[in-house]
Amino acid sequence: MEEMSFLKNISLLGATGSIGRQTLDIIRQHSDYFRLSSFSAGRNIEETRKIIKEFSPKLVSVLEKDDALRLKGEFPFVQFVYGEKGLTETALFSESDTVVNAVMGSVGLIPTLEAIKAGKTIALANKETLVTAGHLVMRAAQKYHVDILPVDSEHSAIFQCLQGENSQNVARLILTASGGSFRDRTREELRHVTREEALNHPNWSMGAKITIDSATMMNKGLEVIEAHWLFQMPYEQIDVILHRESIIHSMVEYQDHSVIAQLGTPDMRVPIQYALTYPERLPLPVTKRLNLAAIGSLHFEEVDFDRFRCLAFAYEAGKAGGSMPTVLNAANEVAVKAFLDGKISFLKIEELIGKALEWHTLIKDPDLESIQCIDRETRRFIDSLL
Ligand code: NDP
Ligand code: MG
Repeated sequence: MEEMSFLKNISLLGATGSIGRQTLDIIRQHSDYFRLSSFSAGRNIEETRKIIKEFSPKLVSVLEKDDALRLKGEFPFVQFVYGEKGLTETALFSESDTVVNAVMGSVGLIPTLEAIKAGKTIALANKETLVTAGHLVMRAAQKYHVDILPVDSEHSAIFQCLQGENSQNVARLILTASGGSFRDRTREELRHVTREEALNHPNWSMGAKITIDSATMMNKGLEVIEAHWLFQMPYEQIDVILHRESIIHSMVEYQDHSVIAQLGTPDMRVPIQYALTYPERLPLPVTKRLNLAAIGSLHFEEVDFDRFRCLAFAYEAGKAGGSMPTVLNAANEVAVKAFLDGKISFLKIEELIGKALEWHTLIKDPDLESIQCIDRETRRFIDSLL
């Protein structure tokens, strides 16, 4: 095998989060190939200090100005920036060639668009960016000849199943869904579930917001929209199937009915690393090999769209297109936060999202300013219902 010879300088947005930490682990495993040149954190300053000490980046962004000033006193050789502007400055850091976007929420949109314009390769975990403005992101990527490489495990799987194939021959994308924390509850039982139960995901350890999204199945809905944009696939050709073991990460069916799947033990470091080494691969000894004989059997079930209304909403919003997915995403972000803050019940999340979709009047091809305006208005609308 020919040895890989490249050094990637990485800007990591959301370094203190679940995906962020696992990305740092990949950089740590392969320090000959990857260097952390800049990163952003939110409010976790203790973790920020540790990352600075271990990786010696040149630029760091945090959410609050006070934190940036304090850190500057401790690390005089590092450049500190802050807030939303700081997030974009991190993505644009001149020495980096690759941006890993692992922040949570539509706050990831502007840094992504700006990084694309600067010609940087994007490894995208932040699915909210593609849901809120997929048309703008994909258009910009095409215009500036930039690769958007999926980090989300399902999309990484599909991306791998598409390698060497002609996309004209694809009949259907099949996203697998674990079903989240409440996959075995009836609709009636969902009325009384708690925040703690919702946060207890059977297969993956992730940030709080995406764990709730998995429990409502909105995560799968957001992923359907993400797949639509990444692979330019009509919604009619994107299916979801429940697969509780999370061993098959997703599949592609071709027009001759051949189905190609990607498998592996559930560990986000695999898709993160693939996005960073693509089209090459590197060993990853810290992850577990798949032992199918030990697993014995894999299970599949049809999705129940009545029990998982958020998934139905996402298909509706996606098919309506234009500004509808922006509303879906913003409403979901606010509703999930309200649930995490103990202000609303679990089923209220989908109720609020449904109301927002009804309330909104579709705008067909919204520009960036309209997207930002609709995002703000939707958040205000949901707030008014709380
Ligand atoms: P986490 O909540 O664990 O991490 C979020 C990161 O973003 C943290 O570094 C946090 O900083 C930072 N952050 C949060 N809000 C802001 C803000 N307003 N401005 C700047 N930074 C902010 O999330 P995950 O890592 O779980 O998820 C990140 C993204 O990846 C999401 O879009 C999610 O859907 C996607 N994803 C995650 C997967 C997973 O396994 N976790 C799998 C597939 C996709 P701090 O903590 O310092 O405040
Ligand atoms: Mg996923």
